[in-house]
Amino acid sequence: MSSNIHIKVRRQDAPQTLPYWQEFQVPWRTGHNVVSLLMALRENTVTREGARVDPVAWEHNCMEEVCGACSMMINGRPRQSCSALVDNLEQPIVLEPLVKFPVVRDLIVDRSRMFSALKKVKAWVPLDGPFDLHERAPRISPQDWVEQYSYSRCMTCGCCLAACPQYGHELDFLGPAVLAQVHLKNQHPTGRYNKTERLHTIMADGGLSDCGNAQNCVQVCPKEIPLTTAIGKLGRSVTGQMLRDLLGTK
Ligand code: SF4
Repeated sequence: MSSNIHIKVRRQDAPQTLPYWQEFQVPWRTGHNVVSLLMALRENTVTREGARVDPVAWEHNCMEEVCGACSMMINGRPRQSCSALVDNLEQPIVLEPLVKFPVVRDLIVDRSRMFSALKKVKAWVPLDGPFDLHERAPRISPQDWVEQYSYSRCMTCGCCLAACPQYGHELDFLGPAVLAQVHLKNQHPTGRYNKTERLHTIMADGGLSDCGNAQNCVQVCPKEIPLTTAIGKLGRSVTGQMLRDLLGTK
């Protein structure tokens, strides 16, 4: 094992400035993941050529792959930097900001488009309304619970969106994470009160029909969420909704 870890970082000082590359060496330490590597680099940010430069900016929070904040491109793949163990990565370790999202600085991107899309599809279970919150919660079969739990593990990291060829700056597609949340909330006994509204939203431009079935999303999702299964099931729900709209039934 080499005593130094070779890192190559795509840097950008501000949203409107041009990106550039810098390379660094960080002393090897047992158990390093990419977050701890960047922390070590921050203590002494000197390039391989010996120039002292500004510390690299990046985001992280939970360090246990549940918050989704530390997403970035690592050796060309969108993933979480907290769970990327350095000893398992080829060197130089190439770090870039998550593609498809505007860069704020260095490895920090603005993922607000994903959060706006979740608002657009009402990806929540409404608590205000004529629902009795004091009764026992509605029962859900174990099979449905298992399915719904798998979708509830989404941490809005954005990796699936970075990998999706249909998602991008110039494209309207809501993206697999958002569609999976539509499916999840439509299954919930209270969430399904907004089902028709959600289905109409994904029947419009940028919705379900923009999915090209590339299946990249399921390949990169750190939570192994069955995104394409959700999209397939939504296809059937949308067909049912189209028929109901045509017949004027609910
Ligand atoms: Fe991340 Fe998976 Fe959620 Fe996509 S579906 S945002 S990859 S956790």
